[in-house]
Amino acid sequence: MILAANWKMNKTAAEAASFVQGYAGGLSEWVVPTVLLVPFTTIPAVAEACSHTGIPKQRLAYGAQNFYYEAAGAFTGEVSADQLLEFGCRHVICGHSERRHVFGESDDLIGKKVRRAVDKDLVPIFCIGETLPERESGQLESVLTRQIEEGLSGVSATNLSKVVMAYEPVWAIGTGVVATPEQAEEAHAFVRKLLVSSFGASASRVPILYGGSVNAENAYTLMIRPGIDGALVGGASLKVESLLALHAACVKAAKEKGEA
Ligand code: PEP
Repeated sequence: MILAANWKMNKTAAEAASFVQGYAGGLSEWVVPTVLLVPFTTIPAVAEACSHTGIPKQRLAYGAQNFYYEAAGAFTGEVSADQLLEFGCRHVICGHSERRHVFGESDDLIGKKVRRAVDKDLVPIFCIGETLPERESGQLESVLTRQIEEGLSGVSATNLSKVVMAYEPVWAIGTGVVATPEQAEEAHAFVRKLLVSSFGASASRVPILYGGSVNAENAYTLMIRPGIDGALVGGASLKVESLLALHAACVKAAKEKGEA
């Protein structure tokens, strides 16, 4: 079980540092790792604040929401894997629906980022998910298949073990409309089947997170479902108390599933 927080374009460096202090101070146990996906400008402050918490890096990790796959060069406005690694980032989101739909990122570009991330030992949190019209017109499986095939093309079975998947139905992101536990479980089972048929049995260990309007009230009913291995949370991750409550819900589900 993993709890990943996507802060999107929120928080100054000072706010980010004080969040880390408050969150770390409020955590009573670390059995479920937390990954903070933070704005680029806050990464040094988050790195510094995390280093003072005493919580091991595997339990309180941080990373970025985006990066570019080239090593360096004339790519104005972009940030490379090495620039993230320099500040201790362990994770990076690839293919978030806002990158796909607001910034026009293609499956091909996302695939290049996923390959670069695993080659650099950055864990890609690889997001996939259908829009409402796609779901309503019966294209859920074909959309997920295309996103997975293109996003993971060229990734070896060994490197797949470094990937974290996130199923995020676009219609549930930031809308307050959460997928039902049944809808989420069904989509996760489909993703799992696809991964195992393409990469073999080891793909059964790749975590698949659910994202889309998860909050402290609905998290447990989703996380307790088989095949749902954690949450990627936007809006409800912005306040310390709310992320702590989400963490507690994840810990409860993980314990009941025998995972912690
Ligand atoms: C997200 O940003 O990935 C997300 C799921 O956002 P929210 O939790 O606000 O729907």
